[in-house]
Amino acid sequence: MIAIVLFGKPGAGKGTQAEFLKEKYNLTHISTGDVFRYNLKNGTELGNQAKVFIDKGELVPDSITINMLADEVAKNMDKAGFLFDGFPRTIKQAEALEALLEEKGIDFVGTIGLDANDEVLVARILERGKTSGRADDQDETKIRNRYKEYNEKTAPLIEFYNNKNQYAAVDGIGSIEEVTERLSKVIDTLV
Ligand code: AMP
Repeated sequence: MIAIVLFGKPGAGKGTQAEFLKEKYNLTHISTGDVFRYNLKNGTELGNQAKVFIDKGELVPDSITINMLADEVAKNMDKAGFLFDGFPRTIKQAEALEALLEEKGIDFVGTIGLDANDEVLVARILERGKTSGRADDQDETKIRNRYKEYNEKTAPLIEFYNNKNQYAAVDGIGSIEEVTERLSKVIDTLV
């Protein structure tokens, strides 16, 4: 089995692209944001724990997020591998992911970043907020806080993966099909 991380700022198009790539490469798509939202909607204990952070546009603590991710991986060992979206978001999560994949015998083939400019993305998220029903997509202060969290805690992962030769980036601006094509080209060199 293989694992690929789709990396990028909020609104960069990770979820949209994952929908296409998971079919093409027979991967289980795990979006930690989606798993949190599912739990929020269903009022689970995990959902209640995560709610306070998500509502403020802050990252959910590593311990909660890492356990959740490990459960999702354990439940989905039936495809050719995994496409992670929105995880890892901290160095600690990246280290935990490495250990988990090694334990499960899953080959980590790399991280692919979707590059895009902040102002384009904030506008895109506000637009998405009109229909996504996500409170964290509707308030510009919360959105800006998500970028602050990204810059402080998540951006250092680029260097982390670059140092291991496990990072590539593509231009995330373009039509959905164009971006899928760019990502596929990179994935084809990795798998
Ligand atoms: P997303 O749908 O990926 O934009 O995630 C929405 C929210 O869920 C984030 O703003 C965080 O509050 C939380 N979240 C999702 N993934 C993670 C993660 N890997 N670590 C911590 N918090 C996360």
